[in-house]
Formats: sequence, C-alpha cells, structure tokens
Amino acid sequence: MTVLDPAPSTTLAELTTLRVGGPAAELVEARDEATLVEAVSSADAAGVPVLVVGAGSNLVVADEGFPGRVVVVGNRGLGIEGDTCGGAFVEVGAGEPWDDVVAAAVERGWIGIEALSGIPGTTGATPIQNVGAYGQEVSQTVARVRTWDRKLRGIRTWTAGECSFGYRTSRFKQDPTRFVVLNTTFQFRLGDLGAPVGYAELATALGVAPGERAPATEVRETVLALRRSKAMVLDPDDHDTWSTGSFFTNPIVAAGDVPVGAPAWPQPDGLVKTSAAWLIEQAGFTKGYGNDRVRLSSKHSLAITNRGGATTADVLELARELESGVRDRFGIALVNEPVLVGCRL
Ligand SMILES: Cc1cc2nc3c(=O)[nH]c(=O)nc-3n(C[C@H](O)[C@H](O)[C@H](O)COP(=O)(O)OP(=O)(O)OC[C@H]3O[C@@H](n4cnc5c(N)ncnc54)[C@H](O)[C@@H]3O)c2cc1C
Repeated sequence: MTVLDPAPSTTLAELTTLRVGGPAAELVEARDEATLVEAVSSADAAGVPVLVVGAGSNLVVADEGFPGRVVVVGNRGLGIEGDTCGGAFVEVGAGEPWDDVVAAAVERGWIGIEALSGIPGTTGATPIQNVGAYGQEVSQTVARVRTWDRKLRGIRTWTAGECSFGYRTSRFKQDPTRFVVLNTTFQFRLGDLGAPVGYAELATALGVAPGERAPATEVRETVLALRRSKAMVLDPDDHDTWSTGSFFTNPIVAAGDVPVGAPAWPQPDGLVKTSAAWLIEQAGFTKGYGNDRVRLSSKHSLAITNRGGATTADVLELARELESGVRDRFGIALVNEPVLVGCRL
C-alpha cells in the first residue's frame, strides 16, 4: 500500500462533485480489495481517522479538510456468477462506476436498474443510502453486500434482508464509520423489457401507464434525457451539475401535516412522503436562488450548486437558509441527503 499524499496537498474539493472541502492529511487510492482493507485497517490500528470516498458525489467535507487518511475506493470488476434463464447474479467491485454497471445491465438484458441510469458515483456507495430514482431503488436488486467490519476487524457479508434498507438509508448509513463496502452482488431478472415503471413522470415520457413495462434501452435513454433536463447528469462544463444532486431528502410526515397542494406519496406505514423541492419553492426559494458563488441549480430547486469558488461554509449557509425558511413556513424539518464530514447544518 502506498500513501500517495503524505503532505496535505490534495483537497476534498478535487475529490467531490460539489468541489468544496479542504485538504486530506493523507491520501490512499485503493485499486484492489486487499489494499482497501489494508488502508483502512492499518489506519484504524494506528488511531488515524479514516474517510472512505467513492466518487465524492454525496459528500460535503469541511473547509478545514480531513485530519486523517482519505481512502479512495477503486477496486473494480464485474463477476458474473450465473446468467441463465433463472436470472443473473453479478458481483460488482465497490469502485466500479455505477452508470457503467447500469449500461452493461441494459445491454445484457439484466432487468431492474435501468431507471437508475445516470446517477453518479461508485457501485459500493449505492447500498449505503439505498440509491434510488424514478421509481427504482438498489434494494430491489441487491442480493448481498460484502463488507469490512472495522469494529470486529473482519469480513462480513449481509443479505439484502439484513441491510435495513429504507428510503435513502441502510444499516451502513446508520452506522457510518463501521463498514467498508468491498463489493455488492445484484440479482437480476432477464429480458428486454424493464421492470414495471413505478414513477408517473417516467411513465408519461415513455408513453406507458404507471405499472406497465417498456424496453429497458428506452427506459435508460428516457431517464438520461429527463435527468439531463434537470442537470442531474454530471457535466464538468455545467455549474448546475456541480452539486451533490438533491441536497435534502423528501420529508416523511403524518398525513395531516402535508401542506395543502403539496405532492403526497403515501408510505406503507401510514405516513406520507412529500416533496422537498415543492416545500423549498413554496417557501420562496426559486430555482437559481443564491449568489455568485453558491446557488440553487437553475434547473432543479433541490440541488445546491457551486458556481466556482464556493466554500463549504457558503454551501452550509445557503442550506441553513433553505432549511429554516421551510421550517418557518411549514413547520417541517428538512434533512440533508449528502454525508457531512467535519461540519453540520
Ligand atoms: C448530479 C447528481 C445526481 C444525483 N442523483 C442521485 C439520485 O438520483 N439518486 C440518489 O440516490 N443519489 C443521487 N446522487 C447522490 C450520489 O450520486 C449517490 O449517493 C452515490 O451513490 C454516491 O456515490 P459516491 O461513490 O460518489 O459516494 P461518495 O460521495 O464518495 O460517498 C458517500 C458516502 O458513502 C461512503 N462510502 C462511499 N463508498 C463507500 C464504500 N465502498 N464503503 C463504505 N462507505 C462508502 C462515504 O464515506 C460517504 O459517507 C446524485 C449526485 C449528483 C452529484
């Protein structure tokens, strides 16, 4: 294992899509599983703080930086355990770019992640917050997650049922410094048609009724087009994409607390999910709200974007303003979706 950057010269701004955050005291790029485990476990043994980073698309780190070892996950590869009429089991290295996996799945007729096209980041991060979009979540296709347990100092493999998946959460997110995802195995059905379309906007764009199916290739292209129209596909030339995607999760509240006119998605437990974007807009923060350094995306009111030169302090200041504006107007607390390191709202 080589510590690439023993002197603090690489900043978290260079490792994250929001492009803010100060220096890493140490940097290790782990291109294989053994290096990943060694990088984390040797730092743990020495009492050095560890920050595991995939593609940095859901991460906001303090301007002071990270006073320990930043380990960039880079172990790649797809292992196909079975690809028969019974379905495909595919084991994916944590550092594999997620959208490459979706593209491969659509090409090979592996069904169930086509609506998750265009989401930035690594595959190992997808079970952490149970990545989801357009009616799909990875929990619907994850079979098992292989991890390094930093507390027990050993490998532990979790079946999907043991992962405590929920809306943008899992046992890995709930216990944030304990598990390092080494690889994830997905179980896919086979076919040309994608899974039933579970999101009204996508169904309309595809010209099918919600619950109907459409060719997976079309679902992927349609999702990519929808996402591009909202600046939700990374583009280095477009500051509207210098973000962490949605900065807040959609609040889940008692049915009686949903504001009149707000979108309402009933949950199995009787609570109702409503739209953070709607709340932000109705509280008076329209698309583009902010200043020269940091503002809401001009295409999506949930994305806080860096216009160049923003600091983490700038991002947090705008986030706090949005949060308190929504709380004052509707009495609903917004919760940040990205992981905040060394800072808080
Ligand atoms: C433009 C844009 C659009 C987005 N759209 C969506 C969307 O539609 N749906 C959605 O759910 N998310 C979305 N996101 C958020 C983000 O892309 C996902 O959460 C993604 O899975 C993060 O992957 P990453 O590799 O970048 O993780 P990072 O940002 O590097 O890390 C996120 C967290 O996971 C931890 N982590 C990363 N890898 C590992 C590992 N191998 N083991 C243990 N911990 C690890 C990190 O320590 C950190 O706490 C979007 C982000 C952007 C910038």
